[in-house]
Amino acid sequence: MAGRFIKVKCSACGNEQIIYGNATIPIKCNVCGAQLTKPTGGRAVITNVSYKEVLPIV
Ligand SMILES: [Zn+2]
Repeated sequence: MAGRFIKVKCSACGNEQIIYGNATIPIKCNVCGAQLTKPTGGRAVITNVSYKEVLPIV
């Protein structure tokens, strides 16, 4: 199954960015460097975000 892209808003600085839901490496905020995902066995756990929205696959 293909991974999903998720729009998240960093809870530390409010930056919005698109991340890959199945990321296997930690993803950091592009602005402040806060860690946004914690990979756990192939699935990313989203953390430190104030908002998230799963984007429809196009
Ligand atoms: Zn941030």
